[in-house]
Amino acid sequence: MLSRRQFVGLVASSAFLDRRDLVGGRLGAAPRYDIVIKGGRVIDPSLRIDSVRDVGIADGRIAAVEASLSDDAAQTIDARGKLVVPGLLDIHTHAARVADGASLCLRDGVTGFIDAGSQGADRIGEVIAIAQSAPQPCRVLINIGRAGVVAEGDTMDLARADVAAARAAVASHRDIIGGVKARLSRDVAGPNDYEVLRRAQQVASDFNVPVMIHMGQTISPLPKLLDLLKPGDVVTHMFAPPPNSIVDENGRILPAVLAARRRGVWFDVGNGRTGHLRWDIVDQVMRAGFWPDTISTDWTPEGRTAQVIDFPNVLSKFLDVGMSIPQVIACATTHAARVFDVFRDRGTLNVGAPADVALLDLREGAFEFVDNFGNKRSGRARLFPTGTILAGKRV
Ligand SMILES: [Zn+2]
Repeated sequence: MLSRRQFVGLVASSAFLDRRDLVGGRLGAAPRYDIVIKGGRVIDPSLRIDSVRDVGIADGRIAAVEASLSDDAAQTIDARGKLVVPGLLDIHTHAARVADGASLCLRDGVTGFIDAGSQGADRIGEVIAIAQSAPQPCRVLINIGRAGVVAEGDTMDLARADVAAARAAVASHRDIIGGVKARLSRDVAGPNDYEVLRRAQQVASDFNVPVMIHMGQTISPLPKLLDLLKPGDVVTHMFAPPPNSIVDENGRILPAVLAARRRGVWFDVGNGRTGHLRWDIVDQVMRAGFWPDTISTDWTPEGRTAQVIDFPNVLSKFLDVGMSIPQVIACATTHAARVFDVFRDRGTLNVGAPADVALLDLREGAFEFVDNFGNKRSGRARLFPTGTILAGKRV
């Protein structure tokens, strides 16, 4: 079955093909392309491209990716010396917490995002309204704690993990709610972590949507929690230090973690600012060869000036622990597109796809990256956002 969005997309792309055929003879009408991005290093893991190409955009869609395109365009962007990649997809943000979150992320090259659990059933309408007005595609995950993220711990009072309230909220906003978030650290759920996750799954299974768990520093052992995850669920904060990290004290990935990945559970970065990422754990996990499926920011307005900064900055951190530029781009595009249905036709520069493009500047030098514990590390390169195109329009 096609979703309404996919159906509309197909209709739009066939209409586009018709127009191309009609103007194939070039009768001196409108320019062939609305935009041509010239001479950038195009990296598209979905097409296994990493080379200098021109990208042509017409009618809001990618029209051509070729070594050289004609200048027959309404607008030309000189991308020489820049990276040209599919628009970035950030699967863990809190961008719907503030009115300008979506547009701030868009400027960082983020053409699709998930708000991961900022609100629960009681105030879900607030994030829904912001998500609906966002320029880029987005979905929200409902926090199983009905009061959302709260200082005393979302589900420290187990009564807040209210299945009936969450079900009712999802039922009334099924178009925008794309899953359920369960935050399970000891200061968020305390000894209720397992039961909170069980209830989150009850809600998710009714609507056939994924659960995202926030792992790390839980009271229950991680394997016990992973047992409750189904294929398509997401574990975020995968580099959280003990207790209940994904590695043991000898730096070996827990067998239950390997088994979860084998059965289709995704492992996500969720950089954030508190307790989620420590360099020594990053090193151990990467050395063990357990690379992230997706890289995400856990973006908040506060993170713009500390640790997170922007999505390209978070991606840059993984260049110094063994990943190549195409590999980090894949985590933010192709891989992310597989995790949430809303991104199914995104994260690619394939001809016919929505023309969502991020332009990045790769600068070499000495850049400081700080983990969530104040430990600093110097990196040799950093990606900076320098331009975004959304649905064929320059932002
Ligand atoms: Zn978060």
